Amino acid sequence: SLENKTKEKLQKQICQVALDHFEKQYTTELGEAWASVRDVLTCPLCWQCAILLNKFSPSTELENTLRMKGYHPAFPGSLPYLPASFKCYIRRTPGRFPAQKHQAGKLKEYYLLNAASLLPVLALEVKDGEDVLDLCAAPGGKSVATLQCAYPGQFHCNEYDDLRSRWLKQTIESFIPDPLINLIMVSKLDGRQIGDLKPELYDKVLVDAPCSNDRSWLFSSDIQQATLRLIQRKELPSLQFQLLRSAIKALRPGGSLVYSTCTLSKAENSDVINLILNSCSNVMPVDISEMAKAVSQEFTFLSGMQQHELLVLPEKGKAWGPMYVAKLKKM
Ligand code: SAM
Repeated sequence: SLENKTKEKLQKQICQVALDHFEKQYTTELGEAWASVRDVLTCPLCWQCAILLNKFSPSTELENTLRMKGYHPAFPGSLPYLPASFKCYIRRTPGRFPAQKHQAGKLKEYYLLNAASLLPVLALEVKDGEDVLDLCAAPGGKSVATLQCAYPGQFHCNEYDDLRSRWLKQTIESFIPDPLINLIMVSKLDGRQIGDLKPELYDKVLVDAPCSNDRSWLFSSDIQQATLRLIQRKELPSLQFQLLRSAIKALRPGGSLVYSTCTLSKAENSDVINLILNSCSNVMPVDISEMAKAVSQEFTFLSGMQQHELLVLPEKGKAWGPMYVAKLKKM
C-alpha cells in the first residue's frame, strides 16, 4: 500500500553518493534554486499527492470528502482544452491519501499522482477523434489522464518492459470502461522502432521518457545501486534522443509531440530537445508559456527556460515535480 511505501521511504536513508552527485551538477545548472529543491526532495514528509478523479466512475461523495479535507482543484477552468470532466484535487499540506484497492468488476474512482505529471498531458491538448500514441506508457498514469481529457480516435499505449506492460494493462482495465477500452491498443515494443513500424500514423505522441528519477534515486538502497544508476544516467540522453526521433517518424505532418522527464538534469531535458531541433529540419518548437502562466498559482517553474519548455521545481507546499516538459510540432 501507499502507506507502507511511504513508511519505507521515511525509514530509508538518503543516499549520500546520489546527493553528492546532484549537489554538484544541480548547483551548476539551477544555481540558487537548487537549495530549496533539495530540501523538498530529501524530505519525504514534505511530499504531497494529487488525486485525479476518474470520470468513468464519478463520485460526489469522494469530492465532498476531498473538499472537507481541504483539497481544491489543481487546474483553473481557464486552461484551453481542459474539459469540465477533468478533475484533479490537491492541497497545500503534505501527506498522503489512501490508495484504492483493486476490486474485480469495479472501476477505480481515482488515481494518485504527482500533480506535475499532468502537465505533459495538458500540453499535448488531445482532442476528440485524434489518433494518439503514448510511447512509454507504464504504469499508465498519463494514459488514464489523457482519456479524462478527450475521446481519441485510436489510442495506442506502448511499454517495452514485460512486467511494467502488465501493470499498464491492469491500470487501463481498472479505470477505463467498455466500450472505450476497445479503442485502446496496448503493445510491448521498443519505442525506438515504432516510428518505422507505424510511420505518420498519429496526430499526437507523448514521449514520457525513461530518465533518471531524481526523487527516487536520492533514496537508492545502497552505494552499489546508486553507483550503477549514475553510470546508467550517462546512457539515457542517447536513448531519449532515439525515442524522440521515432516519435517524430510516427507523427503525421502537422501533428505534435510532448516530451517529458522527471529529472532536473539538463542533459536529459533541454540538451536532448535542442539536439532534436538542430538535427531534424521538419520539427519546430511549440510555445507552451501560456499554459505555464495559467497554472503558475500551483507550480513553481525554473525561470529562464525557452517558450517551448518548462521545468517544474518542487517547493515546500507545492512539492510537485521535478518535471520537464517540451512541445514540438512536425511540419
Ligand atoms: N508514462 C508513464 C506514466 O505516466 O505512468 C510513466 C513512464 S516511465 C517515466 C518510462 C517508461 O518507459 C518505463 O516504464 C520504462 O520501462 C519504459 N521504457 C524504457 N525503455 C523503453 C523503450 N525503449 N521503449 C518503450 N518504453 C521504454
